[in-house]
Amino acid sequence: MSREISLFKYIALIFIFNFCYTSVFAYETCKTSTGTDIKWNTSNITYYVNSSGGPSNSLSAIQSSMQTWTDVNTSSFNFIYGGSTSSTAHGTYDGVNIVTFGSMGSTGTLAVNAYWYYVSTGQMIDSDIKFNTNYSWATSGSSSAYDVQNVGTHEFGHSLCLKDLYNSADSEKTMYGYASSGETKKRDLHSDDIAGVTFLYPNGGGGGGSISHTQIPPSNTSVVRGGTLGPFYGSITNSYSSSQTVYVTPYLYTPAGEWVNIFIRPTTISAGGTHSSGAAYITISSNATTGTYYHVVIIYDTNWNQLDVDSFSFTVTSASQSPQSSDDSLMLKQLMETPGAKVFENEGWKMIIVPEK
Ligand SMILES: [Zn+2]
Repeated sequence: MSREISLFKYIALIFIFNFCYTSVFAYETCKTSTGTDIKWNTSNITYYVNSSGGPSNSLSAIQSSMQTWTDVNTSSFNFIYGGSTSSTAHGTYDGVNIVTFGSMGSTGTLAVNAYWYYVSTGQMIDSDIKFNTNYSWATSGSSSAYDVQNVGTHEFGHSLCLKDLYNSADSEKTMYGYASSGETKKRDLHSDDIAGVTFLYPNGGGGGGSISHTQIPPSNTSVVRGGTLGPFYGSITNSYSSSQTVYVTPYLYTPAGEWVNIFIRPTTISAGGTHSSGAAYITISSNATTGTYYHVVIIYDTNWNQLDVDSFSFTVTSASQSPQSSDDSLMLKQLMETPGAKVFENEGWKMIIVPEK
């Protein structure tokens, strides 16, 4: 049994330098090669923020950037602040959207938004923002630094998937693709920015409900070979006014870069209800590859449209007391979840990630 999913990573940049281009649009949306709009299939997208390396008050500036888009009352879209993170996994498809600060060289790139989407449907599935610390940043509008909220609001526009505009006629818009030091005008949306988010995520266009998955990760995130990770838990909430059936598909992403599907389980959640897993554990075989693993839960509807994704990472270390074989084929020995539920192990599904060219 196998299923392949093509993903494509796209990187949007905001530049310092100024050039002239000719075409003028009110707004532009990202599109697949076949012309489908690239967008999320839910109106609630959570970001975690690692403000390490940013100026003081970066977190509140970033939250203000998110809130500006959320506040558009003709659009249903909401950016949700999920909390702080120590992750620096920018551009990694792990189902966790993050904002980070870090060096990207003095190349004229102020910030980057790296996002993943399905080639076939245009569905966005991961978006990470990074501010380039090779340049000076401030949150006060200081004339000698770039403003976090100003550039952040622009970058969250890419997260929606609005594109850069480069014509001088677009220079007052948040999605104008150039920024200068001391600039704060992108903090507030232009009517064309509002038209863009409203086009992609119109109010009342959501079909009356959503399915969301939440994960409680294990408290032990480092485990020796032969040890057990867990317990961890998951729950799925159905806000529709009718029962919904979904496929719960946990994967392991291994240090070798492989996606291993743990099981596929159809689950029906009653109207307005929540389905909670029992305590889940992963037993690590004694010859597992050491390194960082990701446990990724993807929730699909019965047409295999992705509804939600959650992940946590854990580290497998070598046990000091026993010699290890180099065979890494038996990483996963068992996963126990809801008592009585049937568990299918290692059915061999894979995701294929197509890296950016
Ligand atoms: Zn941009």
